[in-house]
Amino acid sequence: MKKISVLLVYLLWHGLAFAQVDTVQRVIHDRYNSPAQQEKPYVILISADGFRYDYADKFDAKFLKSKRSEGVEATSMLPAFPSKTFPNHYSIVTGLYPASHGLINNYFYDPQRKEHYSMRDRSKVEDGSWYGGTPLWVLAEQQQMVAASFFWVGSEAPVQGILPTYHYQYSEVMPIERRIQTVVDWLSLPAEKRPHLITFYLPEVDHAGHRYGPDAPQTKEAVLELDKHMQRLTEAVAKTGLPVNYVFVSDHGMLAVDTQNTLPMPAAIDTAKFMVSGGGMVVELHAKDKKAVKPTYRKLKKEAKEYQVYKKSNMPKHLHYGAKHDKYGRVGDILLLSDAPKVFHFSSRPPSPGQHGYDATQVKEMHATFYAWGPAFKQGVKVDTFENVDVYPLIAEILGLPYQHKIDGSRHLVEKVLQ
Ligand code: AMP
Ligand code: ZN
Ligand code: ZN
Repeated sequence: MKKISVLLVYLLWHGLAFAQVDTVQRVIHDRYNSPAQQEKPYVILISADGFRYDYADKFDAKFLKSKRSEGVEATSMLPAFPSKTFPNHYSIVTGLYPASHGLINNYFYDPQRKEHYSMRDRSKVEDGSWYGGTPLWVLAEQQQMVAASFFWVGSEAPVQGILPTYHYQYSEVMPIERRIQTVVDWLSLPAEKRPHLITFYLPEVDHAGHRYGPDAPQTKEAVLELDKHMQRLTEAVAKTGLPVNYVFVSDHGMLAVDTQNTLPMPAAIDTAKFMVSGGGMVVELHAKDKKAVKPTYRKLKKEAKEYQVYKKSNMPKHLHYGAKHDKYGRVGDILLLSDAPKVFHFSSRPPSPGQHGYDATQVKEMHATFYAWGPAFKQGVKVDTFENVDVYPLIAEILGLPYQHKIDGSRHLVEKVLQ
């Protein structure tokens, strides 16, 4: 009986959770490629979440290794701070640091709106008013080039009122075969309806890395499985005969953290005076009354062990996360950054053995992956580590999409890696 009721609760819970999202393709009608855009090449931007810079070699991902050697391979790609999924996926497609585009973490508090953003809350994820910048698909659609997204952070929300022509609500129940077939179907549409920019997202390697750690056999298995999916996708797309370019990236890496001695909420924090958000590697304190900032900061500085304390006004410049960068006023007044491999842990559930979120300039394991191949790319090129905000100018160049707005990324890769 107990087993049945547990099963019932499970089904009800998951049934309800799934009920919020559907797996139906959403299509914006009346979108066409202009005749000039129909002449352009194609880009598939693929993100393998949590695919650390060294995974392909560490676990011998043969297909990816062969593709990168036919095209471009970066030593690694530097994620923006904090090295979390939402801020970094959105940095890749906007060319902006998190504090410039507004998605400063997976979960954060906005004191002006007096609201929390959460990656688990569909009403926030699909609300375009949280998202700054001009994502690549918006740039494309603004210039009458059709874009499609089989998942990407931000692609479910109308940003500047614009969604990708074809997109889906995020859901992990859709089989990979169906997702690959959908990409092939998109590329088989008549030229005026065929998307030139496609985003694609694979979460499994991140899941395995969290659950078992970056060195576990299960993580290796997830990497090798992903390698096979990439091969299937590439072979299926090749049959279309179209000039397709692949940009394979990840958002961050993964570190085996100290799960034995985690950092508790520091005693100096009076939760009546601060709105506390975050955990893991970054804790943000928003003062309800700014007068509380100075004394709490002083106390924390005295107390701090195995973590660093900053005010928004004295955050290290290279993090691009201080008062000067905080365009949307979402960064906390005080920030606590744990020293690797330490993590703040406030819940009763056991901490995951694998985690990410640290300053990637200090913790190499946070570095992400960048490989690219296809007719637009030079062959056999290796480039040094670069920041993920530099991907935007590269893809805009391949697709011939000019832009006037200021971004944080630079064009230095364009000459180096493109034909
Ligand atoms: P984290 O590793 O904690 O930074 O978060 C990664 C998680 O983000 C993955 O497990 C995905 O399930 C989830 N995720 C990725 N894209 C989306 C999306 N568009 N909507 C909701 N969740 C997402
Ligand atoms: Zn991630
Ligand atoms: Zn993760």
